[in-house]
Order: sequence, then C-alpha cells, then structure tokens
Amino acid sequence: MNTTTSAQNASRPGTLRIFTARRIHTMDESLPLATAVGVIDDRIVAVGDMASMTPWREGRDVVVDERLKDRILLPGFVDNHVHPFLGGLMTPTEIIAPEAWRMEGGRIAPAANSPERYRELLTERLAARTDKTDWFISFGYQPSEHGRWTRAELDVLCPDRPVVLWHRSFHESYLNSVAIDKLGITEALVNGHPQIDFASGHFFETGNKVMMARLLPYLLRPDWYHRGLNITAGLMHQGGITTAGDMLFGSADPEFELAALAACIEQPQRPLRIVNILEARGFSNRAVGRKVTGPPDECPPFAEGLKAIEVMRTRGSRRVVFSKAIKLYADGAMFSQLMQMNPPGYIDGHHGEWLMAPPVLAKGVEVFWDAGYQIHVHVNGDAGMDSVLAALSSAQERKPRFDHRFMMHHVGFHTNAQSLRMAALGAHASVNPYFIHALADGYAKLGLGQERADQIVRAGSLVRNGLRVSLHSDFMMAPMEPLMLAWCAATRTTKSGRQVAPSERLTLEQALRGITIDAAFGLNMDHEIGSIVAGKKADFTILEDDPFELGVERLKDVRVAGTVFEGEVHLLPVPLASTLAAGAESVPAGLPFQMPTRAPSRPSLRTRRSRYRPAPNTCCGPDGDPCVFLRQLSGWMQEPGFLHSTEPPKRH
Ligand SMILES: [Zn+2]
Ligand SMILES: [Zn+2]
Repeated sequence: MNTTTSAQNASRPGTLRIFTARRIHTMDESLPLATAVGVIDDRIVAVGDMASMTPWREGRDVVVDERLKDRILLPGFVDNHVHPFLGGLMTPTEIIAPEAWRMEGGRIAPAANSPERYRELLTERLAARTDKTDWFISFGYQPSEHGRWTRAELDVLCPDRPVVLWHRSFHESYLNSVAIDKLGITEALVNGHPQIDFASGHFFETGNKVMMARLLPYLLRPDWYHRGLNITAGLMHQGGITTAGDMLFGSADPEFELAALAACIEQPQRPLRIVNILEARGFSNRAVGRKVTGPPDECPPFAEGLKAIEVMRTRGSRRVVFSKAIKLYADGAMFSQLMQMNPPGYIDGHHGEWLMAPPVLAKGVEVFWDAGYQIHVHVNGDAGMDSVLAALSSAQERKPRFDHRFMMHHVGFHTNAQSLRMAALGAHASVNPYFIHALADGYAKLGLGQERADQIVRAGSLVRNGLRVSLHSDFMMAPMEPLMLAWCAATRTTKSGRQVAPSERLTLEQALRGITIDAAFGLNMDHEIGSIVAGKKADFTILEDDPFELGVERLKDVRVAGTVFEGEVHLLPVPLASTLAAGAESVPAGLPFQMPTRAPSRPSLRTRRSRYRPAPNTCCGPDGDPCVFLRQLSGWMQEPGFLHSTEPPKRH
C-alpha cells in the first residue's frame, strides 16, 4: 500500500483517491451522512469514514485528497431543464436587466431597477466596449422599468455605433439608426410591416424575425456562439451543476448544436455533462422537409421523427449524452399568461393558447409512448394539465407501462385532483419554483387572483402524493443556481417578501432532493448520478456552508466552492452564493410583472378557442419562456433564406 496526499487531479489509473470533507450529505436515505468518499477513476467505490476505507486500500496506490476537508459535499447538482442554445446566443450580450444576473467569472450584472439606473449602466457598459465598429447588444431591457429607449434616444447616446436593446422577453428589440443601416433594413423593405415601428426602431414578434434574420449570422459565428456556450458552461459550474438537461435539443439545427457542444462541452477540463432531450415536433417535421413548428393543430409526422431521433441518439459522447427521451408541449407560457386555464379562467376574460392542440399532443404521446420513450411535456395551466393527463391516460389504457417517468415540466398551476391523477398514472414533475418568486405578487392582482396566484407551483402537494419533484431554472428564464431554486421552493417567498401557500413549501430535504437525486430521477439517470453512493459517478458539489446548518431561509446564501466531476476537482476561484443572497448585489428581484398588452377580449367565464401567438394589435406580451421563444426561433431559422437573406454584419 502506497499512501500519498495530493492536491492534484492526476493519478495513475486504478488509484484509490479518498476525499475527506467536514460533512458529506449523500442524499441517499440508507446512509445519509459521511466524512470520506473513496473514488477509483470516475466512480465512487466507498462512502463512510477513513476507517471504513481500509479494506479498499489493500494492494492499491492510495491518494488522500484533503483539499475539501473543511467543506461540505453534496451530490453534483442536476438542473434537468435548461437551454444551452439560448445561452450560446444571449450570454455574450451585455446583460442589463431588472434583476441581477450572474456573469462569467462570478461577476454580477447589477439589477437596473429604475430608468436612471438603466441609463447609468447602459452608459457604463457602452464605455467599456471600446470597439465602436462592433455591435453593442444588450439583453434585459424592460421599458416598464427602464423608461423609453427607442431609436431617437439611442441615437443621441450612440450616434456612431450599432446598438441593439433586446427585451427581457426575447421577443422584442430596439435598434438605433446605425444598427438599422448596418442590417440593411430600410423603410421600403419594412413596407408597413404591422410589427415593426421603423421610426422608433422597435421590432416585435414577426417584426423581430426581420431583425433576427439579419443579425443571427453574427450571433451564430463561433466567435460569438461558442463563447456563449462556454460562458453558459461556466455559469453551470458556478451554480454547482455537474449535469444539465437540454430540454429542447435539436430545436434550431441538430448538427450545428451537436458540433458546438463537441467544441465547447466535450473538452478535457469541462466539469459537466449535458443530457440531450430531443424536440419531437422539430425532428418530425424536419424529417419530411416541413417547417419545424407549424400551427398548433397541425400534427407532425411523429413516426418519421421517431426514426430520425433513433439515429441521432447514437451520437452521444462522454459529456454530451443522449437520453431515450423527447419533449412535447401543451399550453402557452406562464410569464405571458398564455397558459390554458380551466374555469373560472382569467379575471379579465382573456384566454390561453395551445402550443400543441390536445389531439396533436395525444398523437405525439402515443407514438413515443409505444416506442418506449420517456416523455417530457411543457405544461403550465390546469386546462393544459388536463390535456396532458388525457393523453397519458389513453396511452396507459392502450398499452400499460411501468416506470415510464412521464414528466410534467414547469407546472405553473394545477389542482389537487390533478396531483392525484398524475400520481395514479405514474407521472412525475420538474417544476420551476422561480415562478413563485417572480410572479405570485403580480398574478394575485391581475389575471388569477390571490387564491390561485399564491398556489402556483404546488410542489408540496406533488411530493405528498408520492411524485418525484425536480427543480429547474429553464435557463435563461432564471439563473442556473439550484440552491436559489431550492430556496424558492422551500420558502415560497415572493419578490415583495410575502410567503405564499406555506403548506405547499418543500422541506429542506425535499428541496435538496429536487436538485440532486430526484432531478437525476427525472432524467432517468438516478442509477448513475444524483446521490453519493458506491458505484455511481464521482460527481460532487463542493459547498463552503452546510445547508442543513443554515436552514431553508438561508439556502440562497449557501456558497458554492466548486464541483468534482467524475473524480476530478474543479474549484472556483472564490466561493459564490446565489444572486438572491443577502448582500449579493442589490434588492432581491425577480422578473418584473407585466400583463400581456394584447387587445383585451370580452370578459367571460368560458374560455374561447385559442390560437398560437395571435398577432397583437399593439405589442407582444413579455413571453419570457425560453421553450416558447426557441420554438419560434427554430421555425424562423428553418425558412429558406432566413440565415442568408442578407450579408452577415461584419466587423470592419
Ligand atoms: Zn424550457
Ligand atoms: Zn417551457
């Protein structure tokens, strides 16, 4: 036996590496606490204390790694619903948003919560970018918080460089004159487009598509997009994440996405695994040369999609993994109040929308259910939930399956009766608890009323009914900070500091399960990751503080010190707490609440037939759901000529 201590990752293959820690919370109920974990290569071989490692030491090279001895270890965090493609596009922008954002290198982009503060930050970031021939693109603009910044105001501030202010909802942008000229957009070209206000440089919905068609070649260059993916991966590391689910792989262009993942994620020092969940509608339509999105009541050729997905699934690698799983949609976005609500519906009588009409969703479920796939469905309202439960129920009647792990994603609002049906049908849930923080205050006043607004994301009931509940960020909906999400679910604290529907809170243990073992369960990978148990991958999140000592109220303050990925230690330069941590930067802020500004419909207790994203008369609502934006974007990108309609913007 040859024992050394080491602060290096490198050791001979087969060496037993023993990590010691102040405390190890294994998230395994059979052995919840430990102080040492033995690892050979990328696998855990033993969990316990130094004494219990003794039998493993015989006849092996042993390295005792004490770098983590004063720290807390948890299983590597799992965020099973993120959008790396969106991160690639948007994280290289200058983020100036109503809420603080974590940036690369741990920097915080401070919240801009007044027009004065927005001007100040905009001016500062412009000054920091000295190359005036290059684009200045800022994400996070919210006119209701930041005041008026249309073409005229931007021209005064920036007469000599191209500037784009991208709305926090993703669906709108404001450009100055240099930017409009540089993109070759003229009044004649716009020609009275109903969703472009040429004079004010405002592009929204399909008008934003005109802008995007010309800007996207710039954003998809490796210089930009690979940088964005690298930043996104860095943000995952800062949040303590070792496994993330791409919950819409292939939405834009599977080959492009896979090549970029290979270039940025499948790299020796990258402490991260991406699990791709394939977008069923896109793969199906693309297989027969159709537009990838299509209207909500047009049924994609799912059987053709299944064949294409079977081929794509063979192309995984060590860090870029394909799951036998697909993604479908039910109803519209929570942020724009386009979820489908059962009576009493919305207070103002407007109606939600389908992203997939119920018969289309049912067909998609049928095809992939019969093929043995795990099915993930984006669903927000209780009427949306009914459509998903109907599809799952008929699949179960036709062909009963066990351990199918049908997953409900987001779960904005649902009822107790639906919790019971979900449980009876064997479904589980991956919820977005950030909704509680960001939306409950506003929705209590507008749209839903207090009773239903306080009960959004009823995770407590789901757990009580026996479901496994994971917590996701839907990045860039919320920061990829699992401990902050756990805080949202465990405290149900809104922006204004109210605690809503306390009986729906998760316990500390349940909230931490939601970012570890139960999130791994949602990806069908709990046999490999999600708890610290012999035989599993040696993935750990290293914490500076013990969440069990700090308690639920301070989960957002727990500092992440780094991760261990497949046995290799990756410490952050400095430990980081979440953006909502006390003293992190500014007042706790969520996304600003804003009602959709579409023309109000007549108040009615009955929901009328819905359409997918109707052209609003004035301006779009703050959609904000990345799944929905990516779906729209992928539809545009597939159009002939979309990416080649003009010369890509160049640096001069
Ligand atoms: Zn999403
Ligand atoms: Zn979604």
